[in-house]
Amino acid sequence: MTLLPPAVEPALLRAIDGLLLPDDPGYDEACTPWNLAAVQHPLAVAEPTTIAEAARIVAAVTAAGHRIAPQASGHGAMPLAERGLEDAVLLRLHRLTGVQIDVEHRIARVLGGTLWRDVIDAAAEHGLAALHGSSPDVSVSGYALGGGLSFYAREHGLAAHHVRALELITATGEVVRVTADEHPDLFWALRGGGGSFGAVVAMEIELLPIADVHAGFLLWDISAASAVLAAWRDWTRELDRCATTSLRLMRFPAMPDLPPFLSGRAVVVTDGAILADDQRAAELLAPLRALAPEMDTFGRMPAAGLAHVHMDPPVPSPAVGDHVMLGDLDDAALAALISVAGPDAGDAPLSVELRHLGGAVAEPQDAAVPSLDGDYALFVVDLVPAPELKAPASARVGGVAETVRGWARGAPYLNFLDHVADTGAASVETAERLRRVRAVYDPAGTWVAAHPLPEMVGEDQAMASSSRALRSSQSGITSARSAWNSEE
Ligand SMILES: Cc1cc2nc3c(=O)[nH]c(=O)nc-3n(C[C@H](O)[C@H](O)[C@H](O)COP(=O)(O)OP(=O)(O)OC[C@H]3O[C@@H](n4cnc5c(N)ncnc54)[C@H](O)[C@@H]3O)c2cc1C
Repeated sequence: MTLLPPAVEPALLRAIDGLLLPDDPGYDEACTPWNLAAVQHPLAVAEPTTIAEAARIVAAVTAAGHRIAPQASGHGAMPLAERGLEDAVLLRLHRLTGVQIDVEHRIARVLGGTLWRDVIDAAAEHGLAALHGSSPDVSVSGYALGGGLSFYAREHGLAAHHVRALELITATGEVVRVTADEHPDLFWALRGGGGSFGAVVAMEIELLPIADVHAGFLLWDISAASAVLAAWRDWTRELDRCATTSLRLMRFPAMPDLPPFLSGRAVVVTDGAILADDQRAAELLAPLRALAPEMDTFGRMPAAGLAHVHMDPPVPSPAVGDHVMLGDLDDAALAALISVAGPDAGDAPLSVELRHLGGAVAEPQDAAVPSLDGDYALFVVDLVPAPELKAPASARVGGVAETVRGWARGAPYLNFLDHVADTGAASVETAERLRRVRAVYDPAGTWVAAHPLPEMVGEDQAMASSSRALRSSQSGITSARSAWNSEE
């Protein structure tokens, strides 16, 4: 008798219809997230196309004793990959898409993997707009579960605060409807608390009666960075809440796919939206225009055009990011940013961005992310053209974040964090309340989110070990069977 090496196949998962295991054709493709720099090797992966199929898979996977990581587009895949998926099934929801618009009530019902661009286009047909972010191919659910910071934010607040209802698959495979009146504790947790409570398979979100918007960007050569950054900082200190903008210091390699004004160049750009008539918008923009930008695209456009103003990459890309929530920026803070991303910075990342907060974003709501308390959110991104360049890129983005850490204020905004951080860091009360909600809806710690709840780390580990124990006992059964068969 020849004893075979222990089998590693989780036998119970093999029996579940709709799962791809590592040796199945299509597994690698199904595991590939939008952020191509994130490497995901889960126990198995599923790509359900209906709510019923997703619920059946969840019930079967949890009955088999395994954990589940929901994922939509994979824009936020870096922290999830960092957490490790060796003991979890990846539930990719990117094929569960669809949008229905209730024009009368200005509500969109979107399925769990739907990207913003589908909602933006469907809403625009009715003269409506959505609280989407800078990139049209981020998913509605992942974005809103973490908060959701749009270019309408200073006037209208975070997208999470405009969620009316959610449909959630719980760990038992049950689909529950969650609103302010039905499971109100879960409703509170899901508006900012991330993916630790279940798989969101549908969401109802409020739309805005906005058919067109004054939006665009102003662009200068990087040599103007100090003057533009100081002027934008002064401008944002007093700015009407109808304007939400960002400022970026950017460096582009020479690439044929880029427009000539970006290819091989370093630039400073401010962009965003102003919810005012054109005359008022022009008055507000005057102090920045006084700095004679090389390009000025601000003007009235259909609301759907706002999704392209920031020029985020339109296709899956390998990137790493970092983030710090910042308070008021004095001249020393600006000098620190210029030293690492200005004209003379030797090794600056692709983009060093400041998003202007305040206004409605700072007004607390009854949700797991009640508000964002900083004045600016720093969001640093660099490309990772090859796997071996990930470490230096991470060091570059982390280095920029460290440079301004002294001006940090308020809890970080986890949607902008590419490394694992605790959800609910806004306050001890928030963390405790999230923990209590999870104890009710997921006592076994089934769900693996990009950012875990702080107190759940121990329970996650316990679940992972019991999952491992189950797998190893399955392996034992399988190898015993193989040995038996080979003896026959
Ligand atoms: C280019 C770019 C631009 C961005 N611009 C903005 C912006 O303007 N404003 C902003 O606020 N953020 C922005 N972000 C951050 C973005 O909101 C987060 O990365 C967000 O988590 C992405 O959600 P996703 O579902 O697309 O990504 P995923 O990686 O699929 O999801 C991230 C996490 O969310 C949870 N999750 C996602 N879907 C579900 C679901 N259906 N059910 C349960 N849990 C789920 C999971 O824990 C998952 O690991 C940007 C990111 C990138 C890369």
